[in-house]
Amino acid sequence: MEQYIGKTTLQKMAIGKIFYYEKKLVEVKRKEITDIDREWKRFDDARAEAGQQLQALYEKAVKEVGEAEASIFEVHLMMLQDEDYEEGIRNIITNQGLCAEYAVEVTGDNFSNMFRAMDDEYMKARATDVKDISNRIVSILCGNQKEMHPFEEPVILVADDLAPSDTVQLDKQNLLGLVTRYGSSNSHTAILAKTMNIPLLIDVDISKEWNNRLAIINGYEGTLVIDPEEDVRKEAEEKLKQDVLKQELLQNMKGKETITQSGKKINLYANIGDVSDLDEVQKNDAEGIGLFRSEFIYLKSSGLPTEQEQFLAYKTVAQAMGEKKVIIRTLDIGADKQVDYLNLPGEENPALGYRAIRICLTQKEIFKTQLRAILRASAYGNISIMIPMIISLAEVREVKQVIEEVKEELRNEAIEYKDVEFGVMIETPAAVMISEELAKEVDFFSIGTNDLTQYTLAIDRQNPKLDNYYNPYHEAVLRMIQMTIENGHKAGIWVGICGELGADLKLTETFIKMGVDELSVSPSCVLPIRDKVRAITE
Ligand code: PEP
Ligand code: MG
Repeated sequence: MEQYIGKTTLQKMAIGKIFYYEKKLVEVKRKEITDIDREWKRFDDARAEAGQQLQALYEKAVKEVGEAEASIFEVHLMMLQDEDYEEGIRNIITNQGLCAEYAVEVTGDNFSNMFRAMDDEYMKARATDVKDISNRIVSILCGNQKEMHPFEEPVILVADDLAPSDTVQLDKQNLLGLVTRYGSSNSHTAILAKTMNIPLLIDVDISKEWNNRLAIINGYEGTLVIDPEEDVRKEAEEKLKQDVLKQELLQNMKGKETITQSGKKINLYANIGDVSDLDEVQKNDAEGIGLFRSEFIYLKSSGLPTEQEQFLAYKTVAQAMGEKKVIIRTLDIGADKQVDYLNLPGEENPALGYRAIRICLTQKEIFKTQLRAILRASAYGNISIMIPMIISLAEVREVKQVIEEVKEELRNEAIEYKDVEFGVMIETPAAVMISEELAKEVDFFSIGTNDLTQYTLAIDRQNPKLDNYYNPYHEAVLRMIQMTIENGHKAGIWVGICGELGADLKLTETFIKMGVDELSVSPSCVLPIRDKVRAITE
């Protein structure tokens, strides 16, 4: 039996076999070959395997997000069989006598550059697709599986590091827990794991040798045990049963109002990152969605998601929630959330860099596509729009103008939409300090305490070395929250908290005393908070 200590992000147990996940980078070499037939067959077999992977991905996506969103995999399947693409690869293998991986990579690059240079927006977008399928074939030829297959049994996944884009693609059904060497407790990977209600241990000296061995994550103590002895395993199983029991006891909170003893009603919403999180939202009886981190749609995609793909995702969530509020946060990409296809240059200080609304207001076509999708979906439920990373009144006014332009376009096309509520996230000290003026421009504020803590304390939330300095209980952060609530109320708008601090039971009473109107938290935190609020006498 071996025991390791790590940083825990969720008080929960997990017991299961380890799945060691290794992300390999593929380096393609220009190798000469002699047996041309054999090389062609290598390519052909790899293409067939890529086809099977894409078919499986297509079927998974149809089930999880619907046919229209899944259609991107159909496009990839068609591209695999494209005659010109095949011809390009054949030329390099047969005429130049070079290996299949090199032929696929070069042909993929050539096609991708050709598509990128076209005027037609649709064809331009195909550049990323052809690169994606080429990468998939190269990866198979090199013996690497970049793709995350569904797990065959429930597992604890162990990895060096997990980017948010890796995490969002994990097979949630069979994921018991996560253990990583790198990462920070305040990162989006940690937040996603919490949203999925999966314990995560960070900063563990992991080993490849652990693959397939039995392990226990103790999310209460922040420990990982490999090959537990009988009594340790039994004790962990007992704790796991208590977790389940605690969850069952909270079931009696379902259907009840989130109201204090003295009658103060709190709107208790859930944070989601994906349509598939709806299950947890409903299981935990959230009263709405207070933060839909829409950028995860972009992170899951191999190219910019189309208006139709986004529309279907937003519509699915809006319809599932019925009359309940669904607050869609517009694209908050950048910093730790990166996608290759936007070709954003590396930055010295990504957290202070080109992210979120700064991207949307400089690349308006991307922003307008998203706004069109959100407004179209608004006809199917109770949607609100929320803007991240605001620092000035000018930004808010510019966003409102873009929304008006998009509405006008929709009216001209006779496309239905509703007049949605419009709010901003208060997650920079600048926004707090001008909240009195901002409040006059919007319908609501939602305080993003994760970034507000980062920017107020000048602590990079991604830097694991600074985890101990990242103190959301700092008086400066709490006063900023208080000030935002007061200024919001002065202008007659409601104010909520959607950062992780909103789920901190130690602060629920403080927030209620401050006058908070809404708390939006990971789905699994909804019922414990309702329980807490109902016990408050204030
Ligand atoms: C926040 O900053 O508190 C927030 C809710 O947004 P995110 O964590 O996605 O940056
Ligand atoms: Mg934020």
